Amino acid sequence: SNEEDASKAAAATADSGAPTIFDKIINKEIPSTIVYEDDKVLAFRDISPQAPVHILVVPKLRDGLTQLGKAEERHVDILGQLLHAAKIVAEKEGILDGFRVVINNGPDACQSVYHLHLHVLGGRQMKWPPG
Ligand code: 5GP
Repeated sequence: SNEEDASKAAAATADSGAPTIFDKIINKEIPSTIVYEDDKVLAFRDISPQAPVHILVVPKLRDGLTQLGKAEERHVDILGQLLHAAKIVAEKEGILDGFRVVINNGPDACQSVYHLHLHVLGGRQMKWPPG
C-alpha cells in the first residue's frame, strides 16, 4: 500500500547512528568546497544546491548530534557556534540582506544525512512558507 511504501521510505532514512558521508568530508577523504573552517565547525557547499548559495554548516565532532532532536545541555556551545558560523558564511557570501538557515529534523522533515547540519541558503528571493 502507499502507506507501507511511505513508512518504508521513512525507515530507510531514519536515524541509525551509523557514520555518514559527512565524516569523510570532515576528514577530507572525499572532496568538498570548503567555505569556512575552524577547530569545531566546517562549512562546505551543498552538492545539490537549492539556491545560488547553498552551504552546509556541520560540527566536526558529531557527539550524538545526529539530528537537532537529540540535542542535550552539553551541546549548547556547539549549537551556538554553528549559528555563528552560519552568519560568518552568509557574510562571506554577500547574502546578509537575505538568507535562510534550515535544519531538517527527522524523516517527516526529509532529513537525509544523520549528522547535524545547518543549511544556509540565499542569493535569490526565498519563498514563505517553505515546502
Ligand atoms: P538533509 O536532507 O539531511 O537536510 O541535507 C543533506 C544535504 O547533504 C543535502 O542537501 C544533500 O544535497 C547534501 N549532500 C549529500 N551528500 C553530499 C556530499 O557528498 N557532498 C556534499 N557537498 N553535499 C552532500
